[in-house]
Amino acid sequence: MSPGAWAVIARMVAPLHPCMVPPPVVDVLIRNGVIVTCDATDTVLVGDVAVRNGIIVGLGTSAAAQLGPFSSVIDASGCIVLPGLVQAHVHLVQTLFRGLADDVPLLEWLRRFIWPLEAAHDEKSLALSAELGAAELLLGGTTTILDMGTVHGHDAVFDAILRSGLRACSGKAMMDTGDGVPARLRETTHDSLRESERLAKTWTGAGEGRLTYAYCPRFILSCSETLLRECGEAANEQGAIVHTHAAEQEEERAAVHAARGGDDVALLASYGVTGPRAVLAHGVQLRKDEMKALALAETRIVHCPSSNLKLGSGIAQVHALRQAGVVVGLGADGAPCNNNLDGWLEMRLAALLAKVRSGTTSLPARDVLRMATIDGARVLGLADKIGSVEVGKWADLVVVAQDGVHLAPAKDPFSTLVYAMKASDVRHVLVQGRHVVKNGELLTLDARRVASLAAAEARAVAARAGLS
Ligand SMILES: [Zn+2]
Repeated sequence: MSPGAWAVIARMVAPLHPCMVPPPVVDVLIRNGVIVTCDATDTVLVGDVAVRNGIIVGLGTSAAAQLGPFSSVIDASGCIVLPGLVQAHVHLVQTLFRGLADDVPLLEWLRRFIWPLEAAHDEKSLALSAELGAAELLLGGTTTILDMGTVHGHDAVFDAILRSGLRACSGKAMMDTGDGVPARLRETTHDSLRESERLAKTWTGAGEGRLTYAYCPRFILSCSETLLRECGEAANEQGAIVHTHAAEQEEERAAVHAARGGDDVALLASYGVTGPRAVLAHGVQLRKDEMKALALAETRIVHCPSSNLKLGSGIAQVHALRQAGVVVGLGADGAPCNNNLDGWLEMRLAALLAKVRSGTTSLPARDVLRMATIDGARVLGLADKIGSVEVGKWADLVVVAQDGVHLAPAKDPFSTLVYAMKASDVRHVLVQGRHVVKNGELLTLDARRVASLAAAEARAVAARAGLS
């Protein structure tokens, strides 16, 4: 489909600026759950959550129920109700490459596998990859993502996100230089910026305001100084997120030093990729002085523990980052470096790795849950809208069962959620009040069909990439 046709469809679904778009008309009462609010004092309540027009309007036993009638009632007896998980660094376009690039270090992983595979994507494989990722995320209780795509065809990714019901800040990967970049992924600085601007205009505000655009220069080694500077400026002018990878691995950092004569995070700051709208994935290699500078600038970091382990990147100093005052979110990164997109796994790993890195008391369960909810929302600049269960916020909610044998005897909800919960315990998921997962079934996409098509489509992409 042509970019023009996508633009027409996007205008049909989102004719107004997101601030002017009314939320969907959805009235839901979630009854009798243990509500882990993730509010400022980590309040835990037993009772109901009332949702009207996609907004949380009541909390607690009697107050909420009296706001009825409701068109839909969810029985959460024996369940925990919590904010939808926020994963602030994923790559939906790579979901189809799960298992195709195991057991290699970062730069080889990129140059031998991921870039050729991304270059071999077409509109059909991009859509299926994004659907597969969105289905896994929603079924596992993730309701919001910050997503980096590939260079071409990002309309198909936005379209899949729109249909899935996810909330997403997403952008095409931007690459105008670099060693080992396939010709199809290398674009001119001008074309990269114009395409990003077109996508931002087309998709920001679509889906009742669920979709927004993020400028995603991939990383310093594949982006010119001009491209990075222009991304920083465009993001500032438009109030958009600018998202990139930084301080991930020693070898990568050394390559940046050799190419540009400085440390990646300082270079990014000097290019204007800094401040509360700048979101840097990884930060594994950061020194204490760099953490202080990030905190001062309010630049955000996203911790991706599975990816950092699988690519041998190291263990980020999450406790030190938080102590320095940096807002840190969580993310699964892409399927080929994880190989799941499971927010519960990332929480558990983040908690366990912090104990090895900085002591057993350094990152307790309730702090890790905050990283996966309200702090993730802060990373995306959405903390006034999502990330906690509070009256006035959008109803992005997850209901998880506690009756699994692997959870019994469930006692402290923070301990249960971070150390023992699995994606398969998710029963219901609401995004802006819309019921997208009901009794463990995805209502928006045919998840079984998507999964059944994945193997053949992945083989086709690998063949086009010369990797079969
Ligand atoms: Zn990544």
